[in-house]
Amino acid sequence: MSRIKVLDEKLANQIAAGEVVERPSSVVKELVENAIDAGSTTIDVYIEEGGLTLIRVVDNGGGIDPDDLPTAFARHATSKISSGSDLFRIASLGFRGEALASIAAVSRLSAISANSDSGLARRLVIEGGTIVAEEPANAPQGTEMSVRDLFYNTPARLKYMKSIQTELGHISDYINRVALAHPGIAVTLKHNGSSLLQTLGTGDRLQVIAAVYGSSTAKAMLPISASDPDFELTGYVSKPELTRANRNGITLVVNGRYIRSFAVNASLQQAYHTLLPINRFPLAVLEVEMHPSLLDVNVHPSKMEVRFSKEAELKALIEKAVKAALGAQRYIPGPDSGK
Ligand code: ADP
Ligand code: MG
Repeated sequence: MSRIKVLDEKLANQIAAGEVVERPSSVVKELVENAIDAGSTTIDVYIEEGGLTLIRVVDNGGGIDPDDLPTAFARHATSKISSGSDLFRIASLGFRGEALASIAAVSRLSAISANSDSGLARRLVIEGGTIVAEEPANAPQGTEMSVRDLFYNTPARLKYMKSIQTELGHISDYINRVALAHPGIAVTLKHNGSSLLQTLGTGDRLQVIAAVYGSSTAKAMLPISASDPDFELTGYVSKPELTRANRNGITLVVNGRYIRSFAVNASLQQAYHTLLPINRFPLAVLEVEMHPSLLDVNVHPSKMEVRFSKEAELKALIEKAVKAALGAQRYIPGPDSGK
C-alpha cells in the first residue's frame, strides 16, 4: 500500500481542469463570464478550428492589476468572494477562482490586461500551467485572453473532441445565450475569420433576438413583464404560431446568468396549454431578477444548474405573465369572450 501524499499544484490543476474544461465551449464560457464580471461593454470572441487551435476573448472591462496577473492563474484565486457568507449572496458569474488555473493547465495561454485603476498593462504567457514569459505591455483598457492548442498536453481528453462543426455549435449556442442575456453588451463572434454574430449593445433585447434568430422571429415575439415581492420578470415569448421541435429556443436568464430549469420550462408549457401543437415548444427569452440569497448557484461546477428557494412562486409568476401576454393578443379567451 502506498503512503498518502498531497499532489503537486500542477498535477492538481490538471485534474481540476477535467471538471471545469470539458470542451472548447467551456473555455469560452469561463473567459466570457470573467469579461462580464469585469464590467465590459464590448466582448469580442475569435475562434479558429472550433476552438481547438485558438480561442481569443477580448474585453474592455476593468482589467487585472499588473501585480495580480500571475495570481489570477493560481488555483482558488479570486477577487469575487472573500468569506463564507459571500457564498450566500453571489452577485458575480464566477467565484470559485478555478477557471484560469484550469484553462492554463491544459493549453498554451497568453494574457494581456490593462487595469483601469493603475493604468498599467502586463503580458503573461503560460504553457501547461508554467509561466514562460511575463513583461510590461502596452494595451487598451481591458483584457485579452488567447488560448491556443487546448488539451495539447492531455491527449486522452483531446481524443474525445468532436468535429469542428460540433464544437463550434456549442460555442455559438453559448455566445447567442450570452448576447440574449446581456443586451447591453456589444458581443461579436467570429470563426475562422467569418462573422457569426454581432450585437449592438444598445440594451434592446428584441434587437438581439433579431440578430440571433432573424427579424421575422423577432416580429413574432410578445413582450412579457411581471413582478411580485421576490421576483422581477421581463422578456419575450413567441406567439403560438411560432413553435419549435425542442426546448432549445428557451433562454432563461437569472441574475445575469444563463441557466436551464425544468421548472421554468414546465411553467411555460402550462401557460400555453393547448395553444401549442403536441411536441412543439415556444421560443422564449426570460429574465428574472431576484435577491441572490433566493438562488443557490453552487450546485454544479458549470453553474448551469441552480436551485430556487421559492420555485413554486416563480413558476406561478411566469405562468401568469405569459398567459397575460397571450390573453392580450386574444389567444386565450378572456372572461367577456363568447358573447
Ligand atoms: P473567478 O472568476 O471564479 O474569480 P477565474 O479563475 O475565472 O476565477 O479568474 C480569477 C480572477 O482573475 C478573477 O477573480 C478576476 O479578478 C481576474 N480576471 C479574470 N479574467 C478577467 C477579466 N477578463 N477582466 C478582469 N479581471 C479578470
Ligand atoms: Mg471566472
